[in-house]
Amino acid sequence: MILKMESLLLLCGLFSITVCEDIMNEAIGRFGETEEVSSTLSMLSNKNLLDVWWNQVNNPKPGLLVIDLQNDFINGSLAVPEAEDILELCQEIIDSKMFTKTIFSKDWHPSDHISFFSNLGERELDPAWREKHPGEIKMFDEVVFARDPPYTQVLWPDHCLQDTEGSEIHSSINYPFLAFEILKGTDSDIDSYSAFFDNGGNGDTGLQSIIKDFVTEVVVIGLATDYCVGSTTLDAQKIGIPATILTDASRGVAAETTESMLARVKAAGGQVSTWPDWRDSLETWSRAKHLADTLLATHQHNHSTHIYTSTIILLVSYIIVAFIR
Ligand SMILES: [Zn+2]
Repeated sequence: MILKMESLLLLCGLFSITVCEDIMNEAIGRFGETEEVSSTLSMLSNKNLLDVWWNQVNNPKPGLLVIDLQNDFINGSLAVPEAEDILELCQEIIDSKMFTKTIFSKDWHPSDHISFFSNLGERELDPAWREKHPGEIKMFDEVVFARDPPYTQVLWPDHCLQDTEGSEIHSSINYPFLAFEILKGTDSDIDSYSAFFDNGGNGDTGLQSIIKDFVTEVVVIGLATDYCVGSTTLDAQKIGIPATILTDASRGVAAETTESMLARVKAAGGQVSTWPDWRDSLETWSRAKHLADTLLATHQHNHSTHIYTSTIILLVSYIIVAFIR
């Protein structure tokens, strides 16, 4: 009995080491034995993430996030430059059948929304901010409203008012057979650029629960790159979903803010690509590395928990063996 229990523990240990070695050998066989591949594999192995990663690498289940392809952003009150140019490609991507899940987001504001310039007089501005900015406030200015903590907001023209033509998805876009739709910016007092959370990082739209455990990564397309597309990509990375913006299927409000958003996305571990490049990337090391880096970043804070859990399991095993003896 004693021998059997000890042998079992030993076998479990050996099995886990063998599986790890097999994955490492296969990965090196596929991606080459470079320093980057080796160090990534050993970091994944140290955090017990090798098998999770390998499963993601071999079974891609990408999700597609189509952001705010609504009339007001295309040819309405807040038209994004060249927005019409991406519609055909967006439809091609939606129809590609490459995605496990397709989710459309809609900016969906009540008439008293805080982001509308027309509602500026409805709320008190932060006195300290106003003192430093005493001049006339214009459309597209960034203001700070009185709140604890003070709330920063860009003032936009009225747009995407709930149940109006402006908030409808553009008529050239057809949903696939199975599609989800999420609404954002529905709270009068806070804006929501990201399709996951509001600008305060709260107000979960429900998108996370639709995709979190069902996709290996997301591709983000639509409008506008420097605000909603970018913020959605940043939030995806933040909650551990590897995310890629396709620049040929998205457009920004302004060149400067688009550049700085793309830089922020890259700095946060997200990828910036194009539809043809992304499609060709599924077998590449760059995709595998993106998955690995996102896993490692998300589990960074859990490292001590892993060590703690492993130690407890080992101790309990010893106690069981000692007790049986
Ligand atoms: Zn909006």
